[in-house]
Parts: sequence; C-alpha cells; structure tokens
Amino acid sequence: MEKPHLAIFPLSRGMGHFLPLAEFVKRLSKFHGFSITLIISRWVWTSQQPAVLERLASSALDIRFTEIPYITEDEDEQNMELTIRISKFMLKAKPHIEDVLQSLCSSLPVSAFITDLFCTELLDVTTKLKIPGYIFVPSSASFVCFTVHLPKLISDNKVPFKDADFEVEIPGLPPIPARDLINPVQDRSDSAFKWIVQHASRCREASGILINTFAELEEEAMETLSTPATLPIYPVGPLMFTDSDAPDESSCLKWLDEQPPLSVLFVAFGSKGVLLREQITDLAIGLEASGYRFLWVLRGHKSGDSSSLETDISQLLPEGFEIRTRDRGLVLLNWAPQIPVLSHPSTGGFLSHCGWNSTLESVSHGVPMIAWPLFAEQKMNRVILVKQIQVAISLRTESNGFVRREEVQIAVRELMEGQEGRKARKKMKVLKDKAKIALMEGGSTMKATANAATDLSQKPSLTP
Ligand code: UDP
Repeated sequence: MEKPHLAIFPLSRGMGHFLPLAEFVKRLSKFHGFSITLIISRWVWTSQQPAVLERLASSALDIRFTEIPYITEDEDEQNMELTIRISKFMLKAKPHIEDVLQSLCSSLPVSAFITDLFCTELLDVTTKLKIPGYIFVPSSASFVCFTVHLPKLISDNKVPFKDADFEVEIPGLPPIPARDLINPVQDRSDSAFKWIVQHASRCREASGILINTFAELEEEAMETLSTPATLPIYPVGPLMFTDSDAPDESSCLKWLDEQPPLSVLFVAFGSKGVLLREQITDLAIGLEASGYRFLWVLRGHKSGDSSSLETDISQLLPEGFEIRTRDRGLVLLNWAPQIPVLSHPSTGGFLSHCGWNSTLESVSHGVPMIAWPLFAEQKMNRVILVKQIQVAISLRTESNGFVRREEVQIAVRELMEGQEGRKARKKMKVLKDKAKIALMEGGSTMKATANAATDLSQKPSLTP
C-alpha cells in the first residue's frame, strides 16, 4: 500500500517554532509510516537550523526537502514588528508554496498539509488545491483558547489593553492581566493587531489543530477546547527535538557532572531572548549574591529595540564576576544543549523566559522554574505556570519590567530552598510522571497522535 504523503511548511522564526515541528515530523514518519515533504525557506534562519535539517535528512526516515526561492525584504520590512514581518513574508512566500504543492500533487498526491499558526494565509492555497490544511501550534492549549476567544475578547472590551489595569476572563485560563496579553493585541491602531486578529479568526478554517502540549498538563484549557468541539484538536506534545544518536560532548555537561545533585540553577532565555546591559549586570549580581551554583546562557545584549550578539562574554559581565564565581558558576555564550542540561541530575531549577518549549522541557524533567518572561506569549505563560499549573515562582519587577538584583537573589533562594520552591518541585514531579505516561503506549499523547495520523492520512487526497 502506498504511504500517505504529507507536505509541511514550518515557520523559520527562531527555534521555538521549528524544533517541535521537526520532532513531530520524525514521529509521524517513524511511527505512523508517513512520507513527508518539508517545504523549506531560509528566511530568518538561526545558526542552529541547518544542523536540525541535516539530522532529519540523515535519519533514514522517508523525509525529503524542497526549498522555495529566497524571499528578500527591504530594510523597512526587516525592522518591522515580528508578526507584521512574518505576515508580509507569508504574502510573498504564498505563490511559491502554491507552486511547490501543485507540483507535488501531480507526482505524489498530498493527503494533508501542515503549517504554523502564523501562516494561516496558506489555508487559501489548501482550499484551492483541495488539500486538508492543518495548523501546528508550537505553544500551549491555553494559547489556543486565547486565540479562538480573541475576536470576542476584543468586541467585549472596548478599552485598549495597553491602557487597562484589569484582568480579562478567557475560558480555560486563569484571569490574565490585560497588559500581559501578547504585544500585538495591546494597541488596536497597530497593524500587528490586524494580523493577529486575522490569524485568530482564520485558524477555525483549518481541518484541525495540532498542539504541542499533553492533556494532563492543561486540563482546563483542553476541556474548554473540546466542549463544544468546533474543530479537531490534537494534544501531541511534549515534542522535544532530541537526537539520541549524537551524544552531546558539551563542556557544560562535564561541568554539571562535577556539581552536587539538584544544586545548579540553569538560566536561559530561549533562542531569541536578550537583556539590556544593565539588566545583565543586576542578574549577575543577584545570582552571585544568592550563593547558588548556576549555569547561564548569555546571548548578547539589547539596547532599545535592537539587539547585538557578543563574541566575548566578559564584555557583558560585571568586572571580576567570572573570577569571583568560577567555583560555582559557568556562563556560556549563545547556546547550551538545553534538554541534556535539564535532564542532568545536578540541575535543580530553571530561571526561564517561559517560552513554551522551554516550559515543556522543564516539566518533562521535573525542574521547577522562576518565571522571567520577555515577549510573545511568555507573560501569559507566566500567569498559567505560576497561578494555574503552579510549577513556577514569580519575580517582582519594576513598572518598566526591570528586575532588580535583590529580587533575583530572593527568587533564586526561594526556588532552591524556600517553601514556594518545594511546592513547585513537588508539582513538577507529578507532572513529569504524567508526561512520561502520556508518551507511553495507550497514553493521552500517543492516542492523540494516532488520531491525528489517521485523520492526516484518511482524508481523500484530491489532485487539483
Ligand atoms: N534552546 C537550546 N539551547 C539554548 C536556547 C534554546 O537548546 O541555549 C532550545 C530550547 O531547548 C527550546 C528552544 O530552543 O527547545 C527554544 O524554544 P522556546 O519556545 O523555549 O523559546 P523561543 O526560542 O521560541 O523564545
């Protein structure tokens, strides 16, 4: 029997969107017999992306790649807010993706097409070509609740969220301070607002939504999404891109081997997060004053809206910091093997920007968190992690978002030895076990993935 053939267009917007979809691709091909064509664009690639594609290519799975022409942007476009930039990129990429899909269909029928939440524009193409179009959400089920509720939220609340000092009610979520909602919805005159509302409205046109979560982690959100079920929802996570064939020789893992169990705080802000220079100083001094061991990934610094990556760590740190903390701290430039770090027995806490992948990786390894959100839906994630799931503790910030050194010190101590930290660790352990069960045969994620695989292959594959 011919294998079902999937076409997938991943959004190359940092690793947070790319890695979980890459893992899903692997699972669909390895365990559900799909033949998969990944439609690739080199637009805004991170330096890690080629290595991930290479690992997929050398995996001996039935996965092939086809690349669309490079999409150019003028300087104005490059400086636009990310949602607008992505949406403009998608308008230019759309005809190329249509060409690829059309030519694929003529050689090997495509049973379904999967793309990112920010690429709803492509649902026009799938409708035209009569291919079922699915949306992949690298974020939480709670974020999907927010997305599907957004049009009503906007019509019910006439005050711009940026000026609001109230909390909003979103089914499935704890009350969220309006100012913690994602940036593009804060200001209605912003064109990012228009795009987000469009994606939110259009995701209902999809044949189904695949979410990087597991049912037991977000019970309230999953219940909200399934009653009444408007469209099929598949909680297929946690999806963590790992490569067991390539053991990590990173020096930081060797350093972790030498530290006592649960003694190290891992500090990392994802694949895109950078801090202001002054903030790096206060974080450094707070970490030092806490007295705890730490492993810190530092990616450069930000000034105003622009960020620059540094090649010399000591340029970023307070004078003498590395010498004073050399017995108990390690600072890495740019990137760490995060999953091996979180799974290491010496790692006892995670100060995180609350990116959803980082969150799932922490949950899957039972590591309690300090929530330090920076952008995107991370402030919403903080509320969910602190108030609803109760696996993270909050940091007190100034009104401009700055975290003072004293607050860093207090939060680190609280997480590593305080009562709040103990509660979060206990809850994390329960969820770690549930994540493991979800991924076992008969577990919720395995069932959802099997259902998705059936739907992704069963739909009639019609050539245009
Ligand atoms: N990551 C990593 N090493 C780093 C920084 C990030 O391996 O030093 C990985 C991390 O494990 C996660 C992804 O990159 O899988 C980041 O995704 P997340 O959603 O947490 O944040 P984003 O980068 O999208 O802000």
